[in-house]
Amino acid sequence: MTVAAQGPCPCGRVDARRRPLPFAGCCGRYLAEFERTPAPDAEALMRSRYSAFVLEDAGYLLATWHPSTRPPEVGFEPGLKWLGLDVRDHRVLDATHAEVEFVARSRLAGRAQRLHERSRFVCEDGRWFYLDGEIE
Ligand SMILES: [Zn+2]
Repeated sequence: MTVAAQGPCPCGRVDARRRPLPFAGCCGRYLAEFERTPAPDAEALMRSRYSAFVLEDAGYLLATWHPSTRPPEVGFEPGLKWLGLDVRDHRVLDATHAEVEFVARSRLAGRAQRLHERSRFVCEDGRWFYLDGEIE
């Protein structure tokens, strides 16, 4: 799947006036320039990883997965369509640890699915990584 640079970001983030942020001004810059433009906080990283799932960007998902829990590869369910992300909570525990609770909705073979997870993130050398998550 591709996303138009000026189209709404797959993660659904809105600005102060509740207008959708364009992909290029939201997760797009983190996906496109991982080395130079790391996501600034755990919520931004979580959102960008959701967008990477939508775009099936395995390289970004692996690069933002902490090496201690990173799988050897990331697979994508054929035919799965992501429908939206709802970030419920962004809890900053300290300068280098944070949790993000979210609900991600998808559809597979006509069936609606819902992933409700509390993810843990860790920051190392100014860069946030996904560590692991608990399904709610
Ligand atoms: Zn986004």
